[in-house]
Amino acid sequence: MGRELDTTGTFCPVPILKTGRILQELGPGAELAVLSDDPGILTDLPDFCTAHGHRYLGCSTEPSGVYRLTIRKQGGPGRTTALGLLSGGLDSTLAARLLQDQGVEVRGVHFSTGFCMVDHRRALGRPTDLEEPDRVRNQALKVAGEHTIPLDVVDVSDEYLETVVLNPKHGYGAAFNPCIDCRIFMLRKADELAGEQGIDVVFTGEVMGQRPKSQQRATLDLIEREAGMQGRLLRPLSARHLPETEAEAAGQVDRERLWHAHGRGRSEQMKLAARFGVTDYPTPGGGCCYLADHNFARRMRDLVAHNRSGSLEKRSILRLKVGRHLRLGYNAKVIFGRDEAESTFLAREVQGDTWGVHVADGRGSFGIIEGAPDETRLKTAAGLAARYSRQRNGTRVTVHLIRQDSRRPVEVAPVAEEELKDWLI
Ligand code: SF4
Repeated sequence: MGRELDTTGTFCPVPILKTGRILQELGPGAELAVLSDDPGILTDLPDFCTAHGHRYLGCSTEPSGVYRLTIRKQGGPGRTTALGLLSGGLDSTLAARLLQDQGVEVRGVHFSTGFCMVDHRRALGRPTDLEEPDRVRNQALKVAGEHTIPLDVVDVSDEYLETVVLNPKHGYGAAFNPCIDCRIFMLRKADELAGEQGIDVVFTGEVMGQRPKSQQRATLDLIEREAGMQGRLLRPLSARHLPETEAEAAGQVDRERLWHAHGRGRSEQMKLAARFGVTDYPTPGGGCCYLADHNFARRMRDLVAHNRSGSLEKRSILRLKVGRHLRLGYNAKVIFGRDEAESTFLAREVQGDTWGVHVADGRGSFGIIEGAPDETRLKTAAGLAARYSRQRNGTRVTVHLIRQDSRRPVEVAPVAEEELKDWLI
């Protein structure tokens, strides 16, 4: 049985001042019941708890009409801590805010997989992207800054490529997206991190039923199980549709103050966004992951199908995000920049055995040739360079085949438009 504080007959700010004084006398985790007949207490006390990290446990009304509000003292070592997978999207932001709202100390982690479209745009530095800061902004960092969430950004790209992208136990979605394995991988990592940092709870912004495959109930259960987090993973947005987690049962998190979103509609999230004043967020489902992009997936499948060595070069995968790709043969592929930023990027890729190809007057797309092209393929690549230049309607065009520090000029006719479709990936 906790302490009781009777503040009846007093009004704002007296009940809150008295509550603060009593809490100073109590140890972490102690419960306090505040009696008040001031209706303003119904918002003041929850706000006070949020501001000070105490947990508001709820309110009942006595037969006399007096409110009885119960709170649990937090602070210091008794305060619940939670680590969330923070993408920067609306759902993970709201999940974090729901927990902060009940006094939980929230931290975030963002795993950099190497397949984020925003990271790629930033690396390319296209002027049109730079003019729109949101196109090149790390949304997770933005959310962390706006909502005071300490955030760790962790590079997992090497391990992710090998264990998730190339060898997913649960296969791919509609593109090259191994979403189920991806979630399991990230949760295991987050759980490890939480263990190292002594954090009580791991949470995500997942909403049951929102995505057709990876967020159905059976899949959510499977992900939780295979991540080794059965009964320990908190999904605050759908928590009230899901079994009680250990943190809820232990009173570390108040289940009643978690949410009940479900399905593809976004109305519940919109209500929460309005409540927390979250107005600026990326379009839901806008997508930031190359693995879920169909163009990228086509190129990735082509790369895998034409790879003899059994291990894929990280640079070849990076280049899948750039330019037009044309397969000239089993062992030769050419990539041309679609604009100046991509051509500049590709020109920097001419290293070691990689060939570059560019019209001699420089007024065209820069290309690189991957693999081991024979003389015929080199000539075809040169014809394509002529095609993707200002001289596309000429008859003979001088093209440079570039390797390391040498340039070999060749005279070629531009490839005809109708031939392109045979090679385009
Ligand atoms: S879309 Fe990409 S980042 Fe998101 S779960 Fe799927 S594979 Fe992972």
